[in-house]
This record gives sequence, structure tokens and C-alpha cells, in this order.
Amino acid sequence: MHWVDTHCHLQLDERDPVVLLERAADVDWVVVPGVDLESSKEAARLAAAHPGQVLATAGLHPHDAGKWVEQGAAISELAPTATAIGETGLDFYRNLSSRSDQIRVFRRHVGLALELGKPIVVHCRDAFAEVIEVIEDTGVGPQTVMHCWTAGPKWTRRYLDLGVTFSFAGPVAFETGDTVRLGAAQVPPDRALVETDTPYLAPPPHRGQPNEPAWVALVGAALARVWGLELEEVARVTSANAARVFER
Ligand SMILES: [Zn+2]
Repeated sequence: MHWVDTHCHLQLDERDPVVLLERAADVDWVVVPGVDLESSKEAARLAAAHPGQVLATAGLHPHDAGKWVEQGAAISELAPTATAIGETGLDFYRNLSSRSDQIRVFRRHVGLALELGKPIVVHCRDAFAEVIEVIEDTGVGPQTVMHCWTAGPKWTRRYLDLGVTFSFAGPVAFETGDTVRLGAAQVPPDRALVETDTPYLAPPPHRGQPNEPAWVALVGAALARVWGLELEEVARVTSANAARVFER
């Protein structure tokens, strides 16, 4: 079986990325998202060292939106060489940067994605209405990957209408993930991706451990149960979607 892990922060993991990639024998390629300038550069270095196997994004996570003043110019310079823009978005759960900074910086990322014609990787926590406002306003929906999608059916249907692609992570497999699974049931398989969000959010039976790309199939298995499809079919469709979205 062949999988694509569309969101794994190999550069934020203490373990050797080469070992993690080797262990993920059924993962053809991965996307390593930057969360600030240094991690975006590190993602680019990994991509250069593993051509065809690692793709990099460049962006500033909403947690650090306040750092755009210092890092924004350099991240924007890195963007044309990246596969996608982000990880960006809004996190109104932890609010580690001010909401106004988060919205302003998210819009800067959207501007880059539109200008460069690249996909944009969006983190959204407790901010579904506010993220929709930016997507509707700018028309960036068809280029948008909603990373670690956790919303229920209502928001999922609204986002479907915007043309976004939904990337599912560990929560769709959690015992407590009923809402996520009801949302996933609304998503046609040809609009879905799978990711691990390594080193975070390890799926069962590995919860609490540092996550790794080798476990992406466990996310796929949860989707296979939701959709009533064979695991092979989920691997095939999500990998084809990843190739289309990230133009690989
Ligand atoms: Zn992430």
C-alpha cells in the first residue's frame, strides 16, 4: 500500500528524520510544514536532502503570528521555493498571539498563496467562522488544505462549499472522535488527505507517544471505517489527492 503523510513536522522532532522516513516504508512522500522562519528553512533543507520524498512549506504558525514583524520578509522570500504556504491560520483556543495579529498574518499568507499560485496549509482551532470569512473574502478556497480537520457536519458542509481539501489526523481515530467522524462522513473521499501531524496527536494504539509518519495508515483505517471503503482504496484516493493538491 502507498500513503502520503501530508503534514508531519519532522524538523520539530528530536529523532533523526532519516530513521523516521525509513520506518515509514509504505509512505511514498511527506509534506514537512514550517511553523516559523527557522523551521521553514529546516524543512527546505530536508526537502533538498530527500528530493521527491520530502516536500517543504514556508510559513508562520498562528501561535507565533506576533513574530511576523521580524520574520515576515524572510518567510515571504522563502515562499517561492516552497511547495506550499503555511502552516498559517487562526487558533482562538490557545490565543498565543493576539487575534488581530493572527488575522492580519493569515491574510498575508493567503496573499502569498494567491500571488504564487500555491496551496495554503491552514490550522483552525475554535475559529471556524473567522477562517471562513477570510477564505470567502479572498476566494482562496480551492487552494486551501484544512489541516487536522476536526469539525462536525455543520462546519464541514460549509467548508465543502468553499472548495477546500480536508486533511485528517489522529483525532478521527480517537475514541472521543465521534464528532470528527461525523464530519468526515460528509467529506467525499476525493476531497480528503491523511496526515500524522508528527510528533503530535499519535493515533490509537500509540496515543501519548511521539507520532511518526509510519502511523499514517491508522488515520486512513479510521477513514475507511467511516466511509465503508477498503483500506487500499483510501490509500489510493488520498495519495492521488495529495499529488493533485501539492502538484507533485
Ligand atoms: Zn502542524
